[in-house]
Amino acid sequence: MITRTRFDLTQADIPEQWYNINADFPEPMPPPLHPGTKQPISPSDMTAIFPESLVMQEASAERWIEVPGEVRQILSLWRPTPLLRAVRFEQALQTPAHIYYKNEGVSPAGSHKPNTAVAQAYYNKQAGVKSLATETGAGQWGSSLALACRLFGLECTVFMVKVSYHQKPYRRMLMETWDATVHSSPSNETEFGKKTLKENPHCAGSLGIAISEAIEMAVKTPNTKYSLGSVLNHVCMHQSVIGLEAIKQMEQAGEDPDIIIGCAGGGSNFAGIAFPFLRRKIAEKKPYRIIAVEPAACPSLTKGELRYDFGDTAMTTPLMMMYTLGHDFMPPSIHAGGLRYHGMAPTVSHALKLGLIEARAVKQTDVFKSGVLFARTEGVLPAPESSHAIHAVVEEAIKAREENRKKVIVFNLSGHGLMDLSAFEAYFDGELQDV
Ligand SMILES: *Cc1c(COP(=O)(O)O)cnc(C)c1O
Repeated sequence: MITRTRFDLTQADIPEQWYNINADFPEPMPPPLHPGTKQPISPSDMTAIFPESLVMQEASAERWIEVPGEVRQILSLWRPTPLLRAVRFEQALQTPAHIYYKNEGVSPAGSHKPNTAVAQAYYNKQAGVKSLATETGAGQWGSSLALACRLFGLECTVFMVKVSYHQKPYRRMLMETWDATVHSSPSNETEFGKKTLKENPHCAGSLGIAISEAIEMAVKTPNTKYSLGSVLNHVCMHQSVIGLEAIKQMEQAGEDPDIIIGCAGGGSNFAGIAFPFLRRKIAEKKPYRIIAVEPAACPSLTKGELRYDFGDTAMTTPLMMMYTLGHDFMPPSIHAGGLRYHGMAPTVSHALKLGLIEARAVKQTDVFKSGVLFARTEGVLPAPESSHAIHAVVEEAIKAREENRKKVIVFNLSGHGLMDLSAFEAYFDGELQDV
């Protein structure tokens, strides 16, 4: 007999409905505001860049929203993802805690991001859209959308921040393999890109510039829309498949978690694992502790201000009520590219404000140390982003040891780190510093 450490579901267990936290907040979220008038935004303001179905989801307060059959069919290429108990990791930490992780790294793009990319491509296809434009930093989102567009026969244009385009060629190649067109941003493809290049030919690019280019292309090109990989309500909702599956898998394991942990950049994978559990915390008074983990170098939840702010540097998006470091905040170049965002999803921000979740900031060298321990015990190399969650797990596991109490911890392994090996090399070479 071997100890059961792996909890698999079948294709039929892929959730048939997404869970929308907006139905269950004890207080409603403040609405997004129009950047010009500062009045609550109307759905028609958004349909220039998003299809109506997604705009409706964004504003919806319905608790359960049907996952279309075609979306479930494509998700079944890698879903349900496994939930594993990290027994060897527990042993290395000499902890009485039981540690479970949901492995979103098994998707074709290597992270949780295709969960929403597939849904977004589907609704755009339904609306008669032919092409999607987006931005990407290190390339996780761009590759996820490239994959989803390919599967639905849509064209995909990705504006990739120039430094990453040159320093991280592998994800660009992955996007091109999935037939996307990738531009180094700032580019000569848009007026905003041309203007930026004219002012500064050596501009290294930024996510803010890339967003502005992608939106411009979506607005100006017929049958083209824009797509965003995190932050927005509908994106967080599409990620709820993670937590909905994890709840079933924890039932298989015969345990109820004490602590649920996820890393938070824009907030979508954290929302994905956390909100289905949060529903039970609200509705069934479950005593769950739910922790969002962010980099100390980009601490929007722990050091930011809760206020209306723009989603992008160019101040073109609606104003959202969120914890923010300011839309012009330039995060230092930590090696977890996916966590370098100045703001936080309004849903995650609201949950923190209401005291339903906790937030914690962790330092980069600790993060890599814990990520490497995980790789050396469980085999899976975690993404640097996911290693933030792992480090918080380590802290909680050590606390359980010191208090000599069994705790059940579940965390989301948002992606694998096989395309981030240079960051691990920098860590091994002692080149990483804490800011
Ligand atoms: C993009 C990314 C993140 C951060 O994005 P969220 O929207 O906060 O989930 C975390 N982990 C991985 C592996 C990513 O690719």
